[in-house]
Amino acid sequence: MPIPDLAPLLKQTFGYDTFRPLQREIMHATLAGRDVVAILPTGAGKSLCFQLPALAREGITLVVSPLIALMKDQVDALVASGVQATFLNSSLEGIEAARRRSGLEHGQYKLLYAAPERVMQPDFITDLQRWNVTAIAVDEAHCISEWGHDFRPEYRMLSQLRDHLPGVPFLALTATATEQVRADIIRQLHLRQPEVFLASFNRPNLSYTILPKAKSTSQVYDFVRQRPDEAGIVYVQSRRSAESLAAALCAEGVKAVAYHAGLQPHERAANQDAFIRDEARVVCATIAFGMGINKPDVRYVIHADLPKNIEGYYQETGRAGRDGLPSDCVLLYSRGDLVRNLKFLDEMTDAKAADIAARQMRMMADFAEGTECRRVSLLDYFGEQWPGDNCGGCDICLQPRETWDATTHAQKLLSCIFRIKQKSGFTTGLNHVVEVLAGANTERIRKWYHDQLSTYGIGKDTPREEWAALGRQLIRLGLIETSQDNFQTLSLSKTGLATLMNRTPVMLTRIPVVAKTSTSSTSSTSTAKVAKAGSIACDEALFTELRALRKQLADDRGVPPYVIFGDTSLRHMCRTYPRTDRDFLAVPGVGSQKLADYGTAFMGTIEHWLQTHEPQPFTHEAPPPPPPKMKSESGVNGSAMESIRLFIEGKSVQQIADQRSMSRGTIAQHLAQGIVSGSLQADPRRFYTEAEESLIREAAATHGHERLGPLHEALGGQITYDKLHAYRAFAQRK
Ligand code: ADP
Ligand code: ZN
Repeated sequence: MPIPDLAPLLKQTFGYDTFRPLQREIMHATLAGRDVVAILPTGAGKSLCFQLPALAREGITLVVSPLIALMKDQVDALVASGVQATFLNSSLEGIEAARRRSGLEHGQYKLLYAAPERVMQPDFITDLQRWNVTAIAVDEAHCISEWGHDFRPEYRMLSQLRDHLPGVPFLALTATATEQVRADIIRQLHLRQPEVFLASFNRPNLSYTILPKAKSTSQVYDFVRQRPDEAGIVYVQSRRSAESLAAALCAEGVKAVAYHAGLQPHERAANQDAFIRDEARVVCATIAFGMGINKPDVRYVIHADLPKNIEGYYQETGRAGRDGLPSDCVLLYSRGDLVRNLKFLDEMTDAKAADIAARQMRMMADFAEGTECRRVSLLDYFGEQWPGDNCGGCDICLQPRETWDATTHAQKLLSCIFRIKQKSGFTTGLNHVVEVLAGANTERIRKWYHDQLSTYGIGKDTPREEWAALGRQLIRLGLIETSQDNFQTLSLSKTGLATLMNRTPVMLTRIPVVAKTSTSSTSSTSTAKVAKAGSIACDEALFTELRALRKQLADDRGVPPYVIFGDTSLRHMCRTYPRTDRDFLAVPGVGSQKLADYGTAFMGTIEHWLQTHEPQPFTHEAPPPPPPKMKSESGVNGSAMESIRLFIEGKSVQQIADQRSMSRGTIAQHLAQGIVSGSLQADPRRFYTEAEESLIREAAATHGHERLGPLHEALGGQITYDKLHAYRAFAQRK
């Protein structure tokens, strides 16, 4: 069967002009009859990957979906776009169920949604065989895997569909990227030589900020108050915190609800519904709140407590900004949260599981304390390399941290560890080392005579938290090693010892010391300054008006507001002020059905608005979403060419940087592009000395050269980034 041109169908039904990355490829593969696994992050547009092909092919597509709420929302949205879709589940009254079944018998639907336990009932399978099922989409396919976070044993039965519906292609979709889960999906569903599509897990419209946690309630309130019209989720650790935070916000006049597993099912449903229907602005939730939410306009996710692992953090922050508009992810971090989380593990009986959990918690804390771009660190966790250098959307990249000469401090700390071991013959934890530096009078210090050490009290002038933070930084740099047991006692690594003996300079990035409880929450306000790349400027007053109209239409029809139109569509209307069908159809997200159903109402309101307001001028095109910062095909862009030209003329990196008013790092990146692509033949000696080169090589042997952050840290910050850029470029060319 030739594959139909999908673009007109995309425009007519869904109102979109272009496909998102991989959508077209996935659709072509499934329409060609292949089994497909699609692993795309949240918000990438997975649903369309089976919805549009369903319209393009004969028969009906069966969609297996884990939650009733998800099915209902998707079907509502499809029906609003004029697609014949329905679902069957236990929530339906007898008459309604009979009506739908009759429609299915008569081939009236293009998509049928059902939960796995229903699908596997023997009667239902016989029905499916009659209903001309021509494709099966398995949504949230990670539910099939015990390695995933939402394991559903019923998903395991789905492979039997293969026998009952031979020849029908499967399309499995998930946002969970791990190798184990992917392998499990393929094996458990009995997929046949599936085509696997794996998208980048970068979420370009999300910005990541990590702030020292002080008084989290007022920090959250400060943030929420600055966004009176925006919806957000605040994740907390416990049911009690969810309740108390929601109550505190309500007391300040913010419409907030709580969500956690301890609520009665009807309360939970009501609170979730209030959020989805734009009646509650903020949900204060435990991690129980999640998969059922496909509200596309969640503008921020705040973690008021430390998540237990990076995967969870990524999935939870991922619930922001599904619609592609800029959204903020804020984590309030305190070391105390890690300590508390670790303490909970003491109650676990399974030692191995506790061990894994502890490691994951430490990785999460390392991420929060890290000094490298948040996006780079996150993507690195998923084995992805971020190609640019400044992501422009995280606290690190937006407010570069200052570096400082930590040599003296490092010397004191390293020698204190060294002296303790020398005197006592055993090693101690970081807290004790800090106490010795601070000259404290503790029982242990007296018992072990550590007040007689030459390092006793030499760190009085620096606050203890700073010593502790420095200690952790030196651990991450590999100058200090910690014992593998739970005591985490400290000793010097080989590099640490060499650093101490040779007084090697140590340059470090300054980490803001975690604020003490009583400090004011002014720091939280800085999050408001996070850049809004990709936002769609529009007539905000009209936007408010259209939102009210949307809400009213949604309530009349008993659907969530976003089913009528997403914010992207409304914002476009508030730029172009459409008053004809043609103009209205040009708005992204407006297909022929929505024009027919809502065109009059929206164009009428706009018309009316313009009788008393001047239209604001906007350049005709809205800015495209923030481009993924990829290199151009040849690997070299115009600005880079200019730097390369100057370099060939004989100018040094510093001279080019001065001349072009750019940082050395940027110039080095330009030159690196040239080196990798082969357009610049340069001598490494123009970048670094032979001695430096062997230092870098040695560090790269253990840390690799793909990611410069760890390499930079491993070298104690001695080798500047511009040199590392050049080094990596030469290595990559080879
Ligand atoms: P996922 O299931 O991957 O999290 P969804 O299927 O919910 O993502 O899609 C996220 C949002 O993106 C939805 O609002 C959807 O309408 C929108 N969308 C999907 N494909 C496109 C496209 N090609 N152009 C514009 N918007 C799209
Ligand atoms: Zn960044």
